[in-house]
Amino acid sequence: VRRQHFNGGAEILPRPPVVTVMGHVDHGKTSLLDALRQTSVAAKEAGGITQHLGAFVVGMPSGSSITFLDTPGHAAFSAMRARGAAVTDIVVLVVAADDGVMPQTLEAMSHAKAANVPVIVAINKCDKPAANPERVKIQLASEGLQLEEMGGDVQVVEVSAVKKTGLDDLEETLLLQAEIMDLKARVDRPAQAYVVEARLDKGHGPLATAIVNTGTLVCGQYVVAGSEWGRIRAIRDMVGKLADRAKPAMPVEIEGLKGLPMAGDDVVVVESEERARMLSAGRRKGNLRKIDLCR
Ligand code: GDP
Repeated sequence: VRRQHFNGGAEILPRPPVVTVMGHVDHGKTSLLDALRQTSVAAKEAGGITQHLGAFVVGMPSGSSITFLDTPGHAAFSAMRARGAAVTDIVVLVVAADDGVMPQTLEAMSHAKAANVPVIVAINKCDKPAANPERVKIQLASEGLQLEEMGGDVQVVEVSAVKKTGLDDLEETLLLQAEIMDLKARVDRPAQAYVVEARLDKGHGPLATAIVNTGTLVCGQYVVAGSEWGRIRAIRDMVGKLADRAKPAMPVEIEGLKGLPMAGDDVVVVESEERARMLSAGRRKGNLRKIDLCR
């Protein structure tokens, strides 16, 4: 078995932000993701036809990109966090301009706070006659959110998912936030990744959408994902193009796992099939700790 080589000079590169959309039911999370997905690389390259793969990438004219997790909802966020996944860099908090702050708005705020993830507010449905963005801002401020226009650092963007207005502004604001956060990742080491979504494909078997946190995932490597294992047979990017490796924050679909992992499961690279089987069996019994044991 060939071991991974490490040399002294670590290669650390900027990476795109990974963004989750949260907010009260019916405030427009799904609509906003749909609208953003239409501006994504996949939508452009595939002529507007996109698959739900758990994540998508929006490429900006500046050359930067943003990765959106395509699963709105607090349950998914909590489930992934409970499995220890560092799921997201920024939360977009969607608040309907006509409805204002509601119980799940507050819940989303507390999730983001607990995860220590910065929030950007998207006041949605600004096209509606009953829209009152100023009221929403006052409500948010009174709930303790330090809005920028009131001297804090939380950015607010007014959008309409239906009319597709304010989307550029939202994307620019996300990139600005990412710049402030100075997001970087090491690429010159075996990957640590996490599963965003998994599905069974008739022709290809189990397919998992994964996002690399750090390092590079390479075709042919043995991996353990949650309690499943396999050897990566193929890596595809979000437009279905084959790639030989996956870099940080770019969602990819990996083929070669023996079973279906769960959203939020971590993916680690191991050096041999034997290690992969052992770690997977151990995790199934629940008597082995994560990551540390696998190298
Ligand atoms: P979710 O439950 O947060 O995912 O909300 P949805 O995206 O399903 O939206 C709930 C409802 O609000 C749907 O009927 C949408 O068409 C509508 N909606 C979402 N965004 C907007 C918007 O920007 N303007 C208007 N007028 N309606 C919207």
